[in-house]
Formats: sequence, structure tokens, C-alpha cells
Amino acid sequence: MSTTTGLGQSPYSVQVGVPAAVLKAKKVRRRLDLTLWEKLYVAEIVRGLVITSKHFFINMLGFIFPPAGKKRKVFTVYYPEEKLTLPSAYRGRPVLVAHADGSEKCVACGLCEKMCPAHAISIVAAEKAPGERYPARYTLDLGRCVYCGYCEEVCPKEAIVMSDEYQGLAQGDRNLLRFQKEQLLRPEGKVKTRLYFVRRIYSKWNY
Ligand code: SF4
Ligand code: SF4
Repeated sequence: MSTTTGLGQSPYSVQVGVPAAVLKAKKVRRRLDLTLWEKLYVAEIVRGLVITSKHFFINMLGFIFPPAGKKRKVFTVYYPEEKLTLPSAYRGRPVLVAHADGSEKCVACGLCEKMCPAHAISIVAAEKAPGERYPARYTLDLGRCVYCGYCEEVCPKEAIVMSDEYQGLAQGDRNLLRFQKEQLLRPEGKVKTRLYFVRRIYSKWNY
């Protein structure tokens, strides 16, 4: 199933038959001032408990008494057998974008390295030709990364983007979370949805 975002078909397609609307937040709250009722806190805590309990019982009863002819009614994904294709707003593993010939788009300007608040990026720049820079080494330490997306935001070449990859990010050995350029490169087509998304978001905020 899929829906359209104004930039063509894609983003919210889901593999397990869960309607895309389920994944979208129903309401974004812009007002920051608390009402008197909210300032009492206890009432809000009780309201939160009611909402959480409601979802718990709906899920549990959905398993015990599934609708006739259906496996289940509730929104539950049997990971890892089932996997979701996540919305384009999701920030997973940062990856480097490759040209069609497989070479990196990155020009080793160093902005992402400078901007990264977790010091997760390390670049060794070199020149292919006079004035034509490229990253001879590009190391991303995902044990430090906080998935803020600043590297993606600051990059002038759309050479690094937050992908929808979330597997393999929990390891017992931090050394396994240090990725080199060759491991990070992805074809542009694979991250196209995210590229459309960031173009729209950043132009919206008039950067
Ligand atoms: S997502 Fe944030 S923390 Fe992770 S590499 Fe990019 S700038 Fe650094
Ligand atoms: S990924 Fe982008 S910001 Fe980082 S060094 Fe390469 S071109 Fe510069």
C-alpha cells in the first residue's frame, strides 16, 4: 500500500498491509503554553495511563479474539519476519550517496565533520585532480552518532543522507559500528525518497 506526498509516489508504503494513515501522527501540537488543567499534572498523568492501558488492552484482546476470518486486527509487526518500509521522515543510519558510476558525491568539504555534535565523522581529504577533492577515507562511528541529521542538513552536495536502515545498529562491540566509505555508499536511487523529503523540508524552512 502506498500514498502520495506531492513529490510523486512512494514514501509511506508498508509491506505488511497496515494502512499508511496508521503510521502518521494524527496531530502536531504547536502550542507550548500549558493550560491550567495541564499544569495540575496529576490529571495528565492519569490521562496518559488511560491511553496506554487502552492500547494495551486493544492489542491483547485483538490477539485473543481476532475478527472472523482475519489473523488479527491490531497493529503489530512480527519483526524480524515482517518489516516495515518506514516513512521518509525516519532518520536511520546516515549513508553516503553515490553517483551512477559508483563514485561518491562527497567532495570532502568537511562541513559534516565540523557540524557533527557527536564527533562521529572523520574525513581524510585528497585530490583526484587539481582542485577536485574527494574523501580518501570517510569514517562514520555509529557508536557515537545520535541520528540528529545535521550532517545531512549541512551537506552542500546531497552527499550524505539519513537512510531508513535500522538493522545492525546494535552490537556488542563498538568497533563493529565504525563504518568506512565503502560500507556507507548507496546508489542515489536507493535514497531517492529521503532526498525528495529533505529538499521539501529544507526549502520549507527557507534555508
Ligand atoms: S546524524 Fe548527527 S551525530 Fe550522526 S553523523 Fe550526522 S551529524 Fe553526526
Ligand atoms: S558528505 Fe557533504 S558535507 Fe560531508 S564532507 Fe562530503 S560534501 Fe562535505
